[in-house]
Amino acid sequence: MSDCIFCKIIKGEIPSKKVYEDDCVYAFHDINPQAAVHILIVPKTHIESAADITAENSMIVGRVFEAAAKIAKELGLENGFRIVTNVGKYGCQSVKHIHFHLLGGEQLTEKMS
Ligand code: 5GP
Ligand code: ZN
Repeated sequence: MSDCIFCKIIKGEIPSKKVYEDDCVYAFHDINPQAAVHILIVPKTHIESAADITAENSMIVGRVFEAAAKIAKELGLENGFRIVTNVGKYGCQSVKHIHFHLLGGEQLTEKMS
């Protein structure tokens, strides 16, 4: 997707503060952090949102969570963290390339909505 900002970040065409990369996944600091630690974990394949996960591409979700566990260890989030993915208009998804927010580094609130 040539006009997708996360595809551009993955390709290095837009700078980002990378924290992790493998053959399937890229992770970087959110530009507008909502917690002490706020990382975005994105698959390198352009998939619009969690509403587009199918039997053919669902392995990427496992790879994202594998990466999340590694990143959490690396960043010292042993007291816990939260992973969120927003979907569509009601979910307030602003970037239409599936991404998982990894939030932590402090006590988060119980409210999730
Ligand atoms: P969404 O609202 O779609 O769930 O999350 C999109 C996230 O991407 C937001 O938290 C926003 O701050 C972040 N974001 C948008 N553009 C950029 C960018 O160019 N660089 C980085 N690092 N984060 C971005
Ligand atoms: Zn994309």
